[in-house]
Amino acid sequence: LRKKKINPTQLVKEITNGNKTALSRAITLIESRQIKHTPAINTIIEGCLPYANNSLRVGITGVPGVGKSTFIEALGNYLICQNKKVAVLAIDPSSSISHGSILGDKTRMEELVKQENAFIRPTASGDSLGGVAQKTRESIILCEAAGFDVILIETVGVGQSETMVHSMTDFFLLLKLAGAGDELQGIKRGIMEMADAIVINKADGENKKPAQQAKSEFRKALHLYPTTESGWQPKVKLASALQQQGIEEVWNMITTYENSTKENGYFQHKRKEQNKFWLLQTINDKLKANFYQQPEIKEKLKQQLKAIENNETTPFVAANFLLDLAKEL
Ligand code: GDP
Repeated sequence: LRKKKINPTQLVKEITNGNKTALSRAITLIESRQIKHTPAINTIIEGCLPYANNSLRVGITGVPGVGKSTFIEALGNYLICQNKKVAVLAIDPSSSISHGSILGDKTRMEELVKQENAFIRPTASGDSLGGVAQKTRESIILCEAAGFDVILIETVGVGQSETMVHSMTDFFLLLKLAGAGDELQGIKRGIMEMADAIVINKADGENKKPAQQAKSEFRKALHLYPTTESGWQPKVKLASALQQQGIEEVWNMITTYENSTKENGYFQHKRKEQNKFWLLQTINDKLKANFYQQPEIKEKLKQQLKAIENNETTPFVAANFLLDLAKEL
């Protein structure tokens, strides 16, 4: 079967009409990262940009097993009942390292996936975390152009992926469990500090009491952090994703955040800062990739590494030599 030829302008039209198949095709194109597709990708992104920016971007993180997909399924279905269009994207660090996936595949979120007003896109594998993050950033733009008002971006609480997700979302939610120590949950202190809210999931059955206790403990812990620029005091909530409890409350909290930060200007300010960050990040990534891809550099780098091993040069001299060499190439 011959593949349909890509017409980027047509694709933009279909995306902005809310066509999910077109949206999927465009994301696949972005993920392919083939040089020959670059002009088409640029046309698509530029064509979608004027229609982007109108969503609420929510990051959701937590260790495997905490209930992320169950929670997203519950929240997503709730939002659809509120007449929202919901897109779910994922950044999965495991897919870039092992080509396996911690977040799993499309079979999760069984109800949500069937909804006309939902779009679920698992992470592409086989790329660096930086590469995956860039694709997700671009996918956000396309989803917004397709009319999705809420973008949920899921990641696992390991590695650098939370920082990535934090830098592309308006609200950052950390899912936790009661009764498991921080070490057990693999949550580093830095992530707590990034969170706009902690939701203690699985607050059902016998777990209710420990969850209550955990709530007051987290609340105390969060109060120790200095108030942020946003003027928002991070909140702690209880939920049972499985029993669909606490979901509405979590959503109300997120919209309260949205309203108050839009009012004081922080919402817009944060997005601008994120755009600046991504500009710099993209330049860094490109410069680095261009540098290391050059055959001459590859060869000379090997020699310099050897020279360092033999104590024949210093790291700084060697680095300057290679950087100067790249300038001439
Ligand atoms: P993820 O790895 O973070 O995406 O976690 P999953 O959503 O796959 O959930 C892991 C397990 O916890 C599954 O067996 C879920 O059914 C269960 N689970 C998720 N949320 C809840 C909850 O609120 N209460 C209870 N009791 N179990 C839950």
